[in-house]
Amino acid sequence: LYNQVQDLKGNIRVYCRVRPFLGGQPSHYSSVSNVEEGNISILTPSKYGKEGKKIFNFNRAFGPSATQAEVFSDMQPLIRSVLDGYNVCIFAYGQTGSGKTHTMSGPDELTDETIGVNYRALGDLFLLSEQRKDTICYDINVQMLEIYNEQVRDLLTTDEIRNSSHNGINVPDANLVPVSSTSDVINLMNLGHKNRAVGSTAMNDRSSRSHSCLTVHVQGRYLTSGSTIRGSMHLVDLAGSERADKSEATGDRLKEAQHINKSLSALGDVIASLASKNAHVPYRNSKLTQLLQDSLGGQAKTLMFVHISPEPEALGETLSTLKFAERVSTI
Ligand code: ADP
Ligand code: MG
Repeated sequence: LYNQVQDLKGNIRVYCRVRPFLGGQPSHYSSVSNVEEGNISILTPSKYGKEGKKIFNFNRAFGPSATQAEVFSDMQPLIRSVLDGYNVCIFAYGQTGSGKTHTMSGPDELTDETIGVNYRALGDLFLLSEQRKDTICYDINVQMLEIYNEQVRDLLTTDEIRNSSHNGINVPDANLVPVSSTSDVINLMNLGHKNRAVGSTAMNDRSSRSHSCLTVHVQGRYLTSGSTIRGSMHLVDLAGSERADKSEATGDRLKEAQHINKSLSALGDVIASLASKNAHVPYRNSKLTQLLQDSLGGQAKTLMFVHISPEPEALGETLSTLKFAERVSTI
């Protein structure tokens, strides 16, 4: 049933979310003038071309007052299809500070209201697998990776996990950890965040310049026939999409910026060529697209969730984010 609903909408969807103004900021002027159904209107002063309004279309658009629960409920059918054996990729795209981590994980202080997609998705999978337990027995495992400067790093490493490790998906030496409750997931995410911070002086800096990927691997066995189904879900919080300041970026910063640029455009190229049903899909151009190759295209379902900031100062980046979204969209 979940899949019937999804199939009608195609395998690639693009959503957009506008972050609210943050505490203490003046909120009298936003570059986003209107959010309605799937449309977002952007006010463009003359500096950026013709003065006026630009309208962008998405499968779904969320304004600054949208709650985490509202955002999740639109993604729910997609997430549930993982239990029916589908491969799903969800990407959070946007400049640093636009709300990617807020959508995927939530703010620093997590409550039942503020928790993000990652926790809600796992919670849903547990709930549904429990409901189906008389028919199908599910095993759920998670993996957490970081891609920084085209290097893949396992974020779920402790001695304890290492000793009981399963094999990771596409990264054979990465740990795949069995989970059976939301608190298992919270513990693992905390471990992942802690490991992510190691070796970097400023955690936020590092996290905005690397991609983080939470992969959920689901295997179900029908109790009567013994036949099995497999599904997977990749929840990816991408590196910030902002252009490096050409005059300032040197050395390590420049190298990071080049890697990010390369991998985000490779991702854009892959999704755009899937959206236009090209025969050749250029998966090999980045670590990220190589890693997710099996889960992009074919029967797999992809959601590109772009994030934008409302501040007029961010308009240049906002427009480039929206152009990226337009390019990968099938609308
Ligand atoms: P990114 O991961 O894209 O760099 P963050 O998710 O860290 O951005 O968001 C930047 C700041 O804005 C954080 O303090 C975050 O809690 C806040 N924020 C982002 N989106 C929202 C939202 N929808 N509602 C409330 N606060 C938000
Ligand atoms: Mg972030």
